[in-house]
Amino acid sequence: MTEREEIQELRKEIQIHNHKYYILDQPEISDYEFDLKLKRLEELERLHPELYDEYSPTVRVGGSVTKNFENKNHPNRMYSLDNAYSYEELETWYRRCLNAIRDETGREQIEISCELKYDGASINLIYENGKLGSAITRGDGFQGDVVTANIKTVRTVPLELRGDFPASFEIRGEVILEKSEFERINNERSNLGLATYMNPRNTASGSLKLQDSGEVAKRKLTCLPYAVAGENLPFKTQIEVLESLAAFGFKIPDHYRSCKNLNEVQDFIAYWAERKNNLPFEIDGIVLKVNALEDQELLGATSKSPRWALAYKFESENAITRLVDVVYQVGRTGAITPVAQLEPVLLAGTIVKRASLHNKDQIDKLGLCFNDRVYVEKGGEIIPKIVAVVSSESERDERVSFIEHCPECETPLSRIEGEAQHYCPNTECCPPQIKGRIQHFISRNAMDIDGLGSETVSQLVDEGLINRIEDLYQLKAEELIVLDRMAQKSVENLLEGVSKSKNQPFVKVLFGIGIRHVGQTVAKTLAKEFGSIDQLSQATFDDLVAINEIGPRIAESVLSFFALEPNQITIERLKQEGLNFEVIQNDQVQKKQLFEGKSIVVSGVFSNFSRSELKQLIEELGGKNVSSISSKTDLLIAGDQMGPAKKKKAEALNIPMLSEIDLENKLKELSDQS
Ligand code: AMP
Ligand code: ZN
Repeated sequence: MTEREEIQELRKEIQIHNHKYYILDQPEISDYEFDLKLKRLEELERLHPELYDEYSPTVRVGGSVTKNFENKNHPNRMYSLDNAYSYEELETWYRRCLNAIRDETGREQIEISCELKYDGASINLIYENGKLGSAITRGDGFQGDVVTANIKTVRTVPLELRGDFPASFEIRGEVILEKSEFERINNERSNLGLATYMNPRNTASGSLKLQDSGEVAKRKLTCLPYAVAGENLPFKTQIEVLESLAAFGFKIPDHYRSCKNLNEVQDFIAYWAERKNNLPFEIDGIVLKVNALEDQELLGATSKSPRWALAYKFESENAITRLVDVVYQVGRTGAITPVAQLEPVLLAGTIVKRASLHNKDQIDKLGLCFNDRVYVEKGGEIIPKIVAVVSSESERDERVSFIEHCPECETPLSRIEGEAQHYCPNTECCPPQIKGRIQHFISRNAMDIDGLGSETVSQLVDEGLINRIEDLYQLKAEELIVLDRMAQKSVENLLEGVSKSKNQPFVKVLFGIGIRHVGQTVAKTLAKEFGSIDQLSQATFDDLVAINEIGPRIAESVLSFFALEPNQITIERLKQEGLNFEVIQNDQVQKKQLFEGKSIVVSGVFSNFSRSELKQLIEELGGKNVSSISSKTDLLIAGDQMGPAKKKKAEALNIPMLSEIDLENKLKELSDQS
C-alpha cells in the first residue's frame, strides 16, 4: 500500500469509528487504538501536504486560528420561536393552528411533534453534496459569523453525510455542552486559578467564537440538529426530518414524539418538566411543531417566527442578582454555614433572597466580593446556590473573607483536617448548639416527642429550664405552667410526650444524641453492628472502619464523641431515665412473633443446636414445646435421623416441617430486620 493509499484508508476508517463512538455510542476499538490511527494519519499528512483535505478527520483536532470571523448570509432565514409559559397560551396556539388547517383543508386533526428545547447556541450547517461547506452562527437570523473551523472540531457534526441525502441543503441545530463536560471544564479552570464559567449555554456559545480551533476541540461540544431548510426537500413530516438526520449520521436523542391531541402534548411537557434535571444536557423548554410539512407551509410565518411552531418555556431556574451580605449560621453540631443574602429576585416562580454558600472553600472558589452581581441557580435543590460571579473586575468591592470567630459565642473557629466545614468548638455553651442539639433530639426521626416543638425548646432554654437533652426528663409541671403560652393541657402533653419517648428503640436514641456525621442510616448500621451503646463506645478506630459504609470521617467523629466527658454524663443520665441503649428489646419483640402461640415438636438430631438449646429458643420465640405429633401440632422442626414413623404421621396430618437450615435462615432474617 502506498502512503497515499494509507492516508485514504485511514481517513475512511477513522470516520467510521468516529461515528460508532460519538453517534451510536458503540465504540468498536479502544480509545488508544483510535488515537494511534489518528496520530499515524497526522504524521502521513505532514509528510504529504499535497494531499491536504479539509474533510480529513484530522481537522477535528483543530489548530487553525481565526482572527476575525467572516460574516455570511444564511441561504434561508433562521427564524426565532414564539414562546408560551402556560397551558392557556399553548391551547390558544394549538386552536389557531387547528382552525387554520381546517379552514384550508377540512381536516379536523393535526399532529404535533414534541421535542426538547436544547439550551445552547444555534448553528446553521450548510452541506453541499454531502460535505460540510460552512457553519454559520444564527446572528440576526439573516446573517451570522462563519465558524466552520471551530464546528469541524465538534465530533457529532459529520464532515461528510451518510446515506441518501439531498444534494444541497441546510441543517439547523443547537451546539451544546453536556453538564458533565461543563463541570469538567470548570474544575480544570478552578484548579488553574481561572474564573469559572456561568452555565453550559454561555460556555457553548462562547466556545464557537474562540479564535484557536484547537481550544474548541478540547471542549467536548455536541451538536443536536432539529431542522432542515432548502429547496425541494423530500421530507414529509418533522418526525421524518429527525429520523433522516439520524440516518445522515447525526446524533438525535431519542426524546421526540408525535402527539395526536392537546392532552398528549401536555403529558409530554409535564413528563419532561419533572425529569429535565436527569438529562445529561440542559433544556429550557419543549418545542412544539405542526408535524406535516405541508401544513407548516399553509400556516406560514410572521415577520419574526413561524406560526407552526411554539416554544413552551419552563420557568427559568437561574437569574442574576446582587450579593448584599453574607451571614453565618451555627448548626447543632457547631458547623458554620455561610448564607448569601441577595437582592430579591424571581427564580422558578418564587422570590429568592438567600442562597447557600456551603463553606469557606466555596466562597474562595467563587472569588466572591460584596456587592457582586451573581448568577444564582435552582437546579433541583430547595435552596438555590450561587454558581458564578458576573461582575467585571473594575466594578468590584471588598472580598468576602470567612469569619474567624463564632458569630454566636465569639469562640475561635476550628477546622478538621481534610474537611471543608468550619466548626465552633464550644459545644457546651454555644447557644445555637445547645438549642440545636435538643431540637434534633426531639425531632420526628429521632425521639419524636409529641407536644414539644422547636419553639418551645428555645423558650425552655432561654428560661434556663433545660440546657442539655437529659434535662428534658427532669421537667416538672409546676415550673412549666408559669411560663408564657403554657396552658395546663400543653404542659400535660409535653410531659407525657417526654415520658413516652423512653420507649423509643436504640437506633432512634443513637440518632437522637446527635453524633456528628451519624445520620439515620449510619445510626442503623452502628446499632446493628454493635448492639448497644456500651459496645459502641468501646469500639476502636479499626473496629469502626472495618464496617461497610463507615469511613474514617465517621469513625473519628464517633471516637471523639465518646471521648468527651459531658457526652458520657448525658448517656449515663439517659440510661438512668430508662432510655433504650441496646437493640435487644426490639429484637425480642420481633422474635416473639416468629413462633407466637404455636405448638412445636422437635425431632431428630441437629448439628448446631443441642435439643435443650432448641427448646429454649422456641420458648424465647413465643412457641410451646410439645412432645408428640397430633392434629394440634403447628410445626415440626426436623433434624437428621428423625424416626420414619414420626415423619409419616406428620406428612399424613399435613403438618409444616422446618429443617435446621430453614430454621437458621429464618433466624438470620429476623436479626437482619432489627
Ligand atoms: P429562543 O432563542 O428562546 O427564541 O428559542 C429559539 C431557539 O431555540 C432556536 O433558535 C433554536 O436555536 C433553539 N432550539 C433548541 N431546541 C430546538 C428544537 N428542538 N427545535 C427548534 N429550535 C430549538
Ligand atoms: Zn459558638
